[in-house]
Amino acid sequence: MTGLPATMRALRLHAWGVPPALVEVPVPQPVGEEVLLRVEAAGLCHSDLHVMDAAEGVLPYELPFTLGHEVVGTVVATGDAAGDDLVGGRYAVHGIWACGSCRRCRTGRENHCPSLSGPVGAGLGRDGGLADFVLVPSARHLVDAEGVDPVALAPLTDAGLTAFHALRPHRELLAGARVVVVGVGGLGHLALQLLAAAGPAEVVAVDPRPEARELAARLGATRSVGSVLDAAALVAGAGGPDADLVLDFVGSPETVGALPSLVGPGGQVALVGSAGGRITVAKGAELPRGWGVAAPFWGTRDDLEAVVALAGAGLLHAETETHSLDDAPAAYDRLRTGAVSGRAVVVPTPHSD
Ligand code: NAD
Ligand code: ZN
Ligand code: ZN
Repeated sequence: MTGLPATMRALRLHAWGVPPALVEVPVPQPVGEEVLLRVEAAGLCHSDLHVMDAAEGVLPYELPFTLGHEVVGTVVATGDAAGDDLVGGRYAVHGIWACGSCRRCRTGRENHCPSLSGPVGAGLGRDGGLADFVLVPSARHLVDAEGVDPVALAPLTDAGLTAFHALRPHRELLAGARVVVVGVGGLGHLALQLLAAAGPAEVVAVDPRPEARELAARLGATRSVGSVLDAAALVAGAGGPDADLVLDFVGSPETVGALPSLVGPGGQVALVGSAGGRITVAKGAELPRGWGVAAPFWGTRDDLEAVVALAGAGLLHAETETHSLDDAPAAYDRLRTGAVSGRAVVVPTPHSD
């Protein structure tokens, strides 16, 4: 590992319910299949706020660890079993560091690997990309991203990937459909772009922030409203609620509570946001005939390859604002107060070299 510094900066979570701190830690040395990347860009996800706000014992993660699960970087060193040919290449990191050998992993469903009941991967229980360097356990978690802008790409490794994976089962339903997108933040603004390509007849975007509604309109939403109540009024048909698909990127008691007033017969719900809302799923209960509810989790490596290809073809582009690693805590504050449009991305430019 010639030419690499001995230490690096990392934004680490040291205690539950306490903001993370930027500290100096050793640069990890890759062994075996491990790969070391210099981080070019790392996105800040709303899930990080849920993680840092969690009470002790809620999440199965040991502290401390480095945050950052939307990571793009350049390989600078590899372990003996990883292969030197990776060095110098730009890669998107698939942050789900699953076992790789169970039934689900072997059939390309590594986002449902039982081992993820503990730490999930990069920045979620294991050291992630809000640092100068990130150690990835194996090259199988890397997707070639040569020629793609790292800042625009970083949010696609989770926000874009999760939106893609949430929409994937509904592809056939989308043409000519009526879709409601709740929350036009990091995930929602990328879902709108994916929808624009899929051909629904009508997309209603919901967000209380006027800037988010403007962004939604720019990204092809047919209508943009400020609350789920307004959306319910808009999608009501003669016989009651009439949306074919609701993508809930908030998941709060308010938004989840509104689902029965949005979803029409045969309507589908993708509950992606994690803000504590609950819904009763039972026949003849709150939702109309033919309902389907899914709570999709992140996405597979194959999905990430598809998402990187969409980015490379110019079809999926994250709106970003950039921050230095020193400013990452302030950027999280902006995310918390709703000041970020699209995604905040940290570019950990070295202090000196
Ligand atoms: P974000 O902060 O970038 O965006 C959230 C958006 O929702 C903001 O624009 C905000 O103004 C809007 N909003 C807030 N309250 C609202 C309401 N009542 N009605 C409509 N809009 C409202 O967040 P993000 O990074 O896009 O993440 C969204 C959610 O998805 C978070 O809960 C996050 O933890 C979760 N998430 C889940 C997965 C998964 O795999 N299931 C992956 C990533 C993120
Ligand atoms: Zn996330
Ligand atoms: Zn597995």
